[in-house]
Amino acid sequence: MPEKKSMERAREDKREGKEAIPLAPPDKQPPKLPLPEPAPRKVGWAVVGLGQLALEEVMPAFREARLSQPVALVSGHADKARKVAEAHGISADAIYSYDTYERLAENPKVEVIYVILPNSMHADFTIRGLRSGKHVLCEKPMAANASECEQMIAASKETGKKLMIAYRLHYEPMTLTIAELLRKKTFGDVKTLSSSHCQNVQAPNIRLSAKLAGGPLGDLGIYSINTARMILGEEPVEVTAISHQPKDDPRFREVAESYAFTLRFPSGVLAHCDCSFGSTESRRYRVHCADGFVEMDPAFSYRGLRLRVKQGESKQSDAQLAEWQIKEVNQFAAEMDHFSQCVLENKEPRTPGADGLADMRIIAAIEEAARSERAVKI
Ligand code: NDP
Repeated sequence: MPEKKSMERAREDKREGKEAIPLAPPDKQPPKLPLPEPAPRKVGWAVVGLGQLALEEVMPAFREARLSQPVALVSGHADKARKVAEAHGISADAIYSYDTYERLAENPKVEVIYVILPNSMHADFTIRGLRSGKHVLCEKPMAANASECEQMIAASKETGKKLMIAYRLHYEPMTLTIAELLRKKTFGDVKTLSSSHCQNVQAPNIRLSAKLAGGPLGDLGIYSINTARMILGEEPVEVTAISHQPKDDPRFREVAESYAFTLRFPSGVLAHCDCSFGSTESRRYRVHCADGFVEMDPAFSYRGLRLRVKQGESKQSDAQLAEWQIKEVNQFAAEMDHFSQCVLENKEPRTPGADGLADMRIIAAIEEAARSERAVKI
């Protein structure tokens, strides 16, 4: 009988000192075993315009996103779109052209449209996207001018679909830390803020075209404007500005090369900023307070940001400033997941259309101030 045999075998093992290792009875689990939560539902995104930002940053960022996945592409170049679709597991029948853009409405997998087109196309594609029943994330600058921004906000209200502007630094932990430090007056009252955002732009580039609503203010200066408004928590009331458009550089036939501008805030904070398409790369700001300063350099890059502070009147050189270590995130994944979360929970995004409109009104005032050589109230 097999049972008798196994008992004999057990006695033999005992004599030989080979006792069987007791197994955990199936009704006893290891204590405090962490059980997985169900995977969150991912929101389906359509990416419109497969240029540098889309291909180098946004598509790869989906791989790090928790709540967002690409399910459709819109492009003027079908061959490129097919390759991108294959690389990201997007079905070939979810590739659209600008002419078939409206057919996104018939694709139930698409909940959000991400507009990454030249600035002059933002308003049109955002409004049509909202009217096709989808939520829209639109790249900065929101549009070519404030009137287009107002029409985009109206379309969002009329359709009940959400509109968010892609201000990635609102989802970036170091920038949020600075906003918190200033709100708590950790270094006393803020007095001035200086910010530079410059890079050398080579032709051909959408940034150098007036027809495509290029120019350094909407492309680079907007970071200084938006970040200042965000970390200071107030809106500027007056601007001054000067600009330069060299006559001997063909890159600047249609747009200015550089702007320097100031923003006056109601609390008395004065911000002075510059942006240029003709200078070596510089992406930084420093906030001067009564009892120290805080700076980010680089501040506006996609990665490798650094936050440094000086507290009190110590005689440190810049090289000796204390650097705060704050874990980096993928800014694009964080931004997209924020919008997906808003869609899933029916909440308003942190950077809605009104934020983009505020920046465009300030940009218009800066352009007017530079043209008229006078201070312009906002
Ligand atoms: P690119 O010129 O690299 O890409 C733009 C894409 O738009 C093109 O590849 C093309 O895609 C499509 N497109 C459609 N019509 C035109 C046209 N008439 N001329 C040129 N392109 C056209 O630009 P970027 O990717 O650098 O910038 C796109 C947007 O993203 C801009 O609004 C810019 O301000 C913003 N941006 C934001 C950044 C951020 O950090 N938030 C950083 C960089 C840019 P296709 O071939 O698929 O049709």
